[in-house]
Amino acid sequence: MRNQNFIDRDKLYSMLDNNAPTESELNDILNKARKLKGLSLEDVAKLLCVESEADIAKILDTAHYCKEEIYGKRLVLFAPIYTGNACVNNCVYCGFRRDNKGLVRKVLTMDEIEQETVQLLRMGHKRALLICGESPRNDANYMVEAIRRTYAARDEKGSSIRRINVELAPMSVEDFAKLKAEKIGTYVCFQETYDPVEYAKFHPAGTPKGDYLYRLTCMDRAMEGGIDDVGLGVLFGLVDYRFEILAIMEHARHLEEDYGCGPHTVSFPRIEPAEGTPFSLPENIPHPVCDKDFMKIIAIIRIAMPYTGIIISTRERPEMRDQLVKYGVSQISAASETNPGGYENEKAGAQFTLGDHRSLDEVISMMIDGGYIPSFCTGCYRKGRVGADFMDLAKPGLIKEYCKPNAMFTFREYLEDYASPETKAKGLALLKQLTETFSKEELKRRVEGNLCKIGEGERDLYF
Ligand code: SF4
Repeated sequence: MRNQNFIDRDKLYSMLDNNAPTESELNDILNKARKLKGLSLEDVAKLLCVESEADIAKILDTAHYCKEEIYGKRLVLFAPIYTGNACVNNCVYCGFRRDNKGLVRKVLTMDEIEQETVQLLRMGHKRALLICGESPRNDANYMVEAIRRTYAARDEKGSSIRRINVELAPMSVEDFAKLKAEKIGTYVCFQETYDPVEYAKFHPAGTPKGDYLYRLTCMDRAMEGGIDDVGLGVLFGLVDYRFEILAIMEHARHLEEDYGCGPHTVSFPRIEPAEGTPFSLPENIPHPVCDKDFMKIIAIIRIAMPYTGIIISTRERPEMRDQLVKYGVSQISAASETNPGGYENEKAGAQFTLGDHRSLDEVISMMIDGGYIPSFCTGCYRKGRVGADFMDLAKPGLIKEYCKPNAMFTFREYLEDYASPETKAKGLALLKQLTETFSKEELKRRVEGNLCKIGEGERDLYF
C-alpha cells in the first residue's frame, strides 16, 4: 500500500477562502482548458469560487467545447441491476441502511439475476452495472456467480450484456483479483464524502463503512488486484461541494502518480429522497447543491479531467439530464430500477427515488432530437484498450476514430432490433447524416460497410 494520506483536509478547505479569479486569471484558466490537457488543483480551486452568472456561462461554454472536441456527440447508455438491498451499514442518507426496518429486503438468486438481465436485454441494453448493499450475502463469491450469470444471459434475439461494471463495497486485493478474472469493466465505489470529520457523522462507527481510510484506499487495492478501470464519486449534499471536487482531483492525482492511470469515470449523484429515511428529505440535507452549482461543477470536472468519463443517473430529472450532457456528461443510465428484481416488478425496497422515468426508447428519441449518438459500445474494453492504454489512445484524440464508428454500429443494432418505428426512422436518418461527416474516405467506406452488414443481420461489429 502506498501513500494513504492523499487528502489534506485543511489544505483543501483553505484553497477555497476568498479565491475567486480576476477576469484575466479566469480567461487564462479557460484558455488553458481549451488545450485539452486538464487543469491544476489551484486552477480548479479558483473556478470553484466563481459565482457570477456571466463567468459561470464562460465555464459552461468551455466545457461544451471540450466535450465536443473529445467525445463528439456520443453518449454511452447503461442500466443498473440491483442484486440485493441487504446491508450491514447504516449510512444516514440511504434507504438500504440496516436500521431502516420497514424496507422489504431481497437478495436475488442467480435465476432472478438472469431474469433481470433478460429484461434489460429486451429493452436494448448492452452494458450493465451490478450493484448491491454491503452484506455477507453479497460477498465476492456471490458476485463472481452473479457476473457469470449476467454475461451468460440471452434474450430471444440472442443479445447479451457485453460489459459489466460493478459498484460494490471496498474489498481485499484477493477479492478484486477474483472480479478481474471474471472480466469486469470498471470498479465503481463512491467515497460519499472525502471530508474525514464529516464522514464520521454520516457513517456510524462499528460498521464496515465507518472506516474512512479503508474506503479511501479501496481503489489502491483494486489496482493492485489487477482492475484496469476505476470509477470515483461522492454523494453531493453531504458537505461543501467545492471541497469534494478538489478531493476528487487529489484522488485522481494520487492514482495517476502511484498507478499510472487516473479514474476512468467520475459519477455525480445528488441525495434523493429514500423510503424511511428522513435525512434524505430536501429540508434535512446539510449542503444541498442547486441546479446552477451542479451544472458548474460538472463543467469544471469536464475541463479539469477532459478524458475521464462523467456519469449521471436517473436520479436527475429529464430536463436536467438533457442540459448536463451538453456540459460534460458522457454516460447516462436509462430506464433504471433501483430495487432488486425491479425489472420483473418485484416489490423489494428501492435505494432512492428516481427523477427520470422515461423508457430507453424515449431517452434515445430525445438524444436523436439533440443530434446525439446513443452508444452501447464496448469495443475498447473488448479489444484490451483499457486503463492506461485507453488514456494513451484517448489523449491524442484518436478516440474519435474508434468510438464514433463503434457507437454508430451499436446504435444501428438498437434501431434494427429494439427501437419503436418512429425512433428507428429518425435514427436511420441521423446515421445517414453522421456517415457523411467522416473526412477520411477509407474510414467512411468501412463505416458504411459495417452499417450495411448490420442492416443485413450481422451483429457485434466493432473496430
Ligand atoms: S449507502 Fe451503501 S453501504 Fe450505506 S447503507 Fe446504503 S447500501 Fe449500505
